[in-house]
Amino acid sequence: MPNKARNIALWLALLFLLPAALLTYRELKSLNQFESTLGEMYQKQLDAVLYSVNQYSQDLAESWARNLELNGYPDSAFFQNAPSISQVIFADSIQDPSPRVFGPKTDINKTEAKAFFDQEKSRLKRLSGYLAANYRKLEPVSFQTIGENKQGILFFVSNANEPPKPCYAILDPSSFVGMDLRPRLEVLAQKDFNLFVWKDGQETPVCATDTVANIDTLGQKPLWLLPDHRVAISLRGENLSTLIKERSKGSLWLMLGLNMLVLLGVIWVYRSIRKEMQLAQTKSDFVSNVSHEIRTPLALISMFAETLMLKRVPNEARKDTYYRIIFQESKRLTGLVNKILNFSQMESGLRAYQFEKNDLNMLVKEVWEAYEFHLEQKGFSSNFGIHEGELLINADGEAISEALVNLLDNAMKYSLDTKHVSLQTDQDATHVWLEVKDQGMGIPQDQLEKIFDKFHRVASGPIHNTKGTGLGLTLVKSIMDAHEGSVEVQSEPDKGSSFRLVFNKLS
Ligand code: ADP
Repeated sequence: MPNKARNIALWLALLFLLPAALLTYRELKSLNQFESTLGEMYQKQLDAVLYSVNQYSQDLAESWARNLELNGYPDSAFFQNAPSISQVIFADSIQDPSPRVFGPKTDINKTEAKAFFDQEKSRLKRLSGYLAANYRKLEPVSFQTIGENKQGILFFVSNANEPPKPCYAILDPSSFVGMDLRPRLEVLAQKDFNLFVWKDGQETPVCATDTVANIDTLGQKPLWLLPDHRVAISLRGENLSTLIKERSKGSLWLMLGLNMLVLLGVIWVYRSIRKEMQLAQTKSDFVSNVSHEIRTPLALISMFAETLMLKRVPNEARKDTYYRIIFQESKRLTGLVNKILNFSQMESGLRAYQFEKNDLNMLVKEVWEAYEFHLEQKGFSSNFGIHEGELLINADGEAISEALVNLLDNAMKYSLDTKHVSLQTDQDATHVWLEVKDQGMGIPQDQLEKIFDKFHRVASGPIHNTKGTGLGLTLVKSIMDAHEGSVEVQSEPDKGSSFRLVFNKLS
């Protein structure tokens, strides 16, 4: 049976727990996928933003270059229209720059300008190559002056009647980002994102589309025109990792809850099945035990009846013995059948009790008188002690006698070498009780609760040799419940047992 139960547990685990575990694993994996997909999405968004910002910067730079091409050297109107350009420097040619410096600020003086053009000769040659192919390429170039690093755009300006001239337009990064890029970033950011521009090495952004700085950015990329500046993107409101964490947390709890539910379900189903199997087993044991109990008296009755019938009995004394045996065995059979009938009545709730005022001492005495001879015959010593005076209880006398007979039967059945049974009655202020004690095989502690279950028999030790139905104590318990009393048991293996039936005192 335990093997069968283990198999069932295994199948249940396979059927329910395995799919649940697989589902959890899949869900966890999909959470990770979700995280990376979301990450990728924002990366793409950032790419799109950056593309648009760079495109815009390029268009702006183109428009400045076109303006210089159309209007020649820049005047104050040019610098008013393009406030992010702080200086424009023209060179006469690649070989001989002879720089001319224009602009409201003097970021670079002429000597520095010459050094710059000399330093950028190869780049200028490359740009002039593009120009020869009819393509004016603008290139962001930085220049290290003594004080700081300048950032600007290098390109060629071709006037109609003059050869193309190298031109370096120096940018004022903060006005470029603040005035030119900001409106563009605001349009791109819309409601969902924040866009920031950072200068390398600085803690705070130089420009942000939202003042509520959620600086947990999802990614950042350098600007084309200002390579030492980066554009970064973040979610407006909750940031991505919080969102993902919250979703993951929710899903995990849900998953855990579901798994727990499945586990509890599996345990419940397993326990029910195990209980049913145990019950089926005890029922089948019961049938075999009852058949066994019936067979012996039936065999004796039929054997002695046949002997009497065939008149093979040698003398009258032997005849009397045979009659007595037939009588005793049929009484035993009646007792057994009554026990089963009472149990079935008890099970269907049909058993009716006749409660009346009774003296427990009287009830006990009656049973003991019928039993004493029986005990003696089976080689038991006994001790019968009743409390002096009346022990009044409200009880069904027949039912109490039946309970007591069951206890005495058990005391005899489960005694091995030391054959001693004692029966006492006593009382205290509120209760009255009878107690049956034996010095038999005793009951293991873990079985003390179970012995009152229907069909239950202690399955180990010498009990196997003792016949029984597993119904006696169930009946005793049910009778005592009906009397609003209780059964108390104390027992120690190999030392003996004591069963006490406790009643409420009738005042
Ligand atoms: P049965 O005696 O027919 O098996 P019971 O319901 O009377 O059924 O008892 C249930 C079980 O409790 C018994 O099978 C036995 O294992 C145990 N038991 C009952 N009384 C005693 C006792 N006096 N000593 C030892 N074991 C007992």
